[in-house]
Amino acid sequence: MGDDLKNLARLQLTEDRISEASKTRDELVIAVEAQGGTLKDLLRKRNEVQDRFDDAKREWREIEESVETKKAELKKWETRLQGLQDWREQQALNSAIREQTRTIGYGENDANEKVSVVEELETAFNTAQEALETAQSKSASLSNELEKQNGLTETALKVELEHREALLAVMPDTDRRRFVSLVASIKRRPARAVVIARGGICGFCNVSMQPQNWIEVQRQEKVIYCQGCRRAVVHETVMAAGVELEA
Ligand SMILES: [Zn+2]
Repeated sequence: MGDDLKNLARLQLTEDRISEASKTRDELVIAVEAQGGTLKDLLRKRNEVQDRFDDAKREWREIEESVETKKAELKKWETRLQGLQDWREQQALNSAIREQTRTIGYGENDANEKVSVVEELETAFNTAQEALETAQSKSASLSNELEKQNGLTETALKVELEHREALLAVMPDTDRRRFVSLVASIKRRPARAVVIARGGICGFCNVSMQPQNWIEVQRQEKVIYCQGCRRAVVHETVMAAGVELEA
């Protein structure tokens, strides 16, 4: 089996690992960004509920204070009534006291209604706060994971890129140039530049190979390129040998 063929198989396997190592990191970057959006939404919701909760509490306190003030006034008026001799003044104050008592009753009703609103908003606030905190901790753990993965990816890529260079360095010039330019021209990752043929058919583009080329592939001595997709075509035993060498 030709060494150039085995090197090509190993280059493809290295290419696969390079994109695999980058993929995990790239997926994490997307996940971190998505989580950032979720966090922003939850924070906005929590703040909205908090504002409404604060407003409701303030309104409730204002009603309570106004009721207390009116009750204090009422007490004074009742005391004053005891000392009044004039019938007309008694009548007027009595009428004012009745009116004040009614107003206090309405105020107490308002305060009770406000209390249920405050309680509902408190529950809503707690729920929103909890959701926010859960999202914050998920966000923190994703960022942590990404930071770790960045390190791992960097290390893995450094090793793999060095390995790739070493493999390329021992390739014949034309095969090296073809491999590098093919990988660069393929947008999908992992880039498939070296493919397996079975039964004379390219495993990538399914084009039938010329009989002489298929014979060469089976001989496993020199590099054959597919006439359909321009990729290097190897026998499956060559790829298997590459897997063994890369292990
Ligand atoms: Zn092909």
